[in-house]
Amino acid sequence: MATQTSQTNYDLAANKNKLISINPANGQVAGEVQKATAQDVDACVQTAWDAFHHQAWSGLRQDQRATVLYAIGQGILAERESLAALQMRDSGKPYKECLHMVDSAAGNFRYYAAVCETLQGALTPARGEYFSMALAEPFGVVACITPWNSPIMNEAQKAAPALAAGNAVILKPSEETPQLAFELLRIAQQAGLPTGMLQVLAGDGEDVGAALVKHAGVRMVSFTGGTDTGRAIGAIAGQRLIPVALELGGKSPHIVCEDADQEKALAAVISGIFGSAGQSCVAGSRLFVQRTIYKAFVNSLAERTRQIRVALPDDPTVQVGPLISLKHRQRVANYVELARHEGGEILAGGMPPSGSELQQGAFYMPTLIDGLSNSARVCQEEIFGPVLVALPFDDEDDLIAQANDTAFGLGAGIWTSDYAKAWRIARAIQAGSVWINTYKQSHIATPFGGFKDSGIGREKGIEGLKLYSQNKSIYWGL
Ligand code: NAD
Repeated sequence: MATQTSQTNYDLAANKNKLISINPANGQVAGEVQKATAQDVDACVQTAWDAFHHQAWSGLRQDQRATVLYAIGQGILAERESLAALQMRDSGKPYKECLHMVDSAAGNFRYYAAVCETLQGALTPARGEYFSMALAEPFGVVACITPWNSPIMNEAQKAAPALAAGNAVILKPSEETPQLAFELLRIAQQAGLPTGMLQVLAGDGEDVGAALVKHAGVRMVSFTGGTDTGRAIGAIAGQRLIPVALELGGKSPHIVCEDADQEKALAAVISGIFGSAGQSCVAGSRLFVQRTIYKAFVNSLAERTRQIRVALPDDPTVQVGPLISLKHRQRVANYVELARHEGGEILAGGMPPSGSELQQGAFYMPTLIDGLSNSARVCQEEIFGPVLVALPFDDEDDLIAQANDTAFGLGAGIWTSDYAKAWRIARAIQAGSVWINTYKQSHIATPFGGFKDSGIGREKGIEGLKLYSQNKSIYWGL
């Protein structure tokens, strides 16, 4: 594969104070935002504390706070198409996937508006000479650091509950996709969120992100991104004794038993790994198929994989769009080379597409690899691209041993018509989310997060709100 290291001749050096976003579908400039540096962090944190102390937000009644949160959700929906189009240019994700993410962002604000209104402290009855109550209080200023793969969705998933809990939020979007966070800020201000309660600092992770995590005024950090970055952030948070929520990487097993509905399983396996070009934390990147049906199933899968339509993200027929950048595509290609080197057989893909309209973009063909063992590096490390490795298993014990033989524990999928077996496997798999006869479904009220190296803490649901508040117990003498 020809190695292209730059998609554009845009003069980055001439734009020191700007963060330029590149459309990975064509290498064109997708937009620019003001670039922050570590020096901006102090002022931003101070503004956040000033806003918090002013109590124009944390001092509101819950129904008043809920009204603004709901209005933010409605504001997002009112601009649904233009936000999806912007996210498509920023991230390269297919337009229809971007629409889904915009809806999900709005859903987060709607849900946490409702939850905010129902929040109440717990009161224990009088006991002798006192009674006591437990209250949830905000931390004050929290930093939310997000990745590039689902920008507006990840940003809303943090900002909505953090604001609902009464905090001032500093959002640090990925430098690859900085634009949506500013749109969210604009919509929040239009909806009536007091100034300073939400701020956006777009800049490099190791500069602005690290400075935020280290800043004494930041009292909690919520991070979504890679496991190595999460580990570094967690170490600093540990030193500072501040709470941290970490949503990290995955290497999720997708399991097909011999008694599965194979047609449905095939479709789910394909969308489970190739949706979002594999750039999904819950991508089902390790396929386990029972040995009795392995050959036939993998042959059909290879056939279908070769037919997947790789196209520009605004093409209505697109199934797989580009990766986030040429640099990331090279990383994915290197893993495929490694798989070849480790003895893997490439049954489909394994190269960029040939179509001329895709040549300027970071496209890579959906790739299926056979013939490796679960200990191969491509089975153990998160590739975050359209690369699926197929592995056979003999029985439940063999399956559980292989599926759990990973540092990660984010998701798992099981296809079987035997519900007792599905239950046994679901309980034995070490993962935060398990899908049975479906895959990658996500409900705002159902907690989401990882076991093992996939993270700490749970987003979504009531758990997602609890992340952003600390408990205070008050005793009253009678
Ligand atoms: P990344 O870790 O490189 O970056 C994520 C964010 O952290 C970015 O905003 C980046 O600027 C910032 N950052 C980088 N270094 C930092 C530092 N030292 N201190 C503070 N901030 C820093 O991840 P990415 O490449 O943007 O995203 C891909 C990863 O995200 C994958 O591993 C994927 O699995 C993971 N992810 C997880 C979930 C989940 O819910 N578990 C969801 C989406 C993505």
